Amino acid sequence: MHFEESDEEKMFREMVREFAQKHVAPEWQKYDGETHEIPRDLIKKMADQMLWAPTVSEEYGGANLSWVMSCIAAEELAKADLSIALPVMYLVEASWAFIFDKYGTDEAKAEFLPKVTKGELFFGIATTEPTGGSDLVNSTKTTIKPKGDGYVINGEKVYISGVAESEKYGGVYWFLGKSDLKGDHKAFDAVILPMNTGDGLHPGITTTLFEDMGRMGVSCGGFNIENVEIPKHYLIGEHGKGFYYAMAGFSAARVLIAATCLGAAQGAFDIGVDYVKQRKQFGRPLAAFEGIQFEVVDSWMALQADRHLTYHAAWMMDEFYKGNSNYTQLDIARYTAAAKYKAPHDALDIITRAMTHHGAFGYSKECPLEASYRGVRSYTVGAEGGSHIQKLVMAREIFGPEYLPYRQKQQMDD
Ligand SMILES: Cc1cc2nc3c(=O)[nH]c(=O)nc-3n(C[C@H](O)[C@H](O)[C@H](O)COP(=O)(O)OP(=O)(O)OC[C@H]3O[C@@H](n4cnc5c(N)ncnc54)[C@H](O)[C@@H]3O)c2cc1C
Repeated sequence: MHFEESDEEKMFREMVREFAQKHVAPEWQKYDGETHEIPRDLIKKMADQMLWAPTVSEEYGGANLSWVMSCIAAEELAKADLSIALPVMYLVEASWAFIFDKYGTDEAKAEFLPKVTKGELFFGIATTEPTGGSDLVNSTKTTIKPKGDGYVINGEKVYISGVAESEKYGGVYWFLGKSDLKGDHKAFDAVILPMNTGDGLHPGITTTLFEDMGRMGVSCGGFNIENVEIPKHYLIGEHGKGFYYAMAGFSAARVLIAATCLGAAQGAFDIGVDYVKQRKQFGRPLAAFEGIQFEVVDSWMALQADRHLTYHAAWMMDEFYKGNSNYTQLDIARYTAAAKYKAPHDALDIITRAMTHHGAFGYSKECPLEASYRGVRSYTVGAEGGSHIQKLVMAREIFGPEYLPYRQKQQMDD
């Protein structure tokens, strides 16, 4: 066992930290509170540093970055942008563009990925529908049907990140639908949906926007897709395997979410420690009271546990994708679900403690902690799978699939 970062990883962390503190830290409060849009030149600067969709292969302008290194970047970005909007955009693209790179056709990859890694085209994920995002097998009403030499898509997606950016500047989506609505998980196909490749919205697509409580620099919206035709080579991987690719994508996104929440929590922890050392009450610094110290220690222990869990999951993913291990996608799903469950929940506790230690100032908009609370909360509510669903994934591996509640229901119905 080796618990230390390699020299290369240490240098990379230092590089991202320096970049993030110089370019991201001075910007985020403006896009959180005023503009509600991450500046395009910041994205361009990140792309110039090979930090945009860095998990994509070098052939398409990526850095073929390991999952451990990708987590390091997410963590450092979130320490600099406590609202976590920029890391959210980073992680959505890093995870889903990776899955597209892995399973997409060469022709489609050559068409989109070089623009994604340059930060010119947003790369999003669209699985959730008005009928629900947790139970995809029963909730998915969107169809992807063969037509002529390609496919025709009809349906609606909601609560999708990056809709406004895609509409304004260009964007494509890793898109999930069913070829047969009566089918089970084997009826799913994944395709690339070009929402806007430079000439405005694709005909047949109409968008709507929602206003979230946090991570205000990234938009959240929905879109209708009416008779949108795409060529055959936009199919990702094999027909009927879209659900499996989606699960691989969720694992990738979840480990980066854990790293993001870890970074936000570490940022809040550092701010809190500094504050209690200098704020005096009852004739001494708050930090000199054990009531405060013990709470800070609780935060510190949670950070250590989450760091180990997150980087363990990232390391497992690296071993899996290098073909070095006997780990399966199910092992990875279990560990990434654990990290995705623990890190956001612990981050909320850590941020809450730091807010409390700031007294009334902690509750004000001038204190950066409230933005962090709003942002991290998205990952306990639902984004990339709600908290209950992470537990469901872990329970499936602990008890076996036959104990899944919906399988039990099926057996009872049979
Ligand atoms: C800020 C934000 C950004 C998002 N961005 C995207 C995006 O870019 N692309 C995309 O496709 N989706 C996105 N989502 C949607 C997200 O994937 C869904 O919110 C999530 O899958 C849950 O679906 P739902 O909201 O429809 O809740 P539902 O599926 O209706 O579930 C409601 C609640 O019940 C819980 N629940 C469901 N089933 C069970 C069960 N069996 N046992 C116990 N509890 C259960 C859920 O965890 C949830 O808390 C985003 C969500 C948010 C909040």
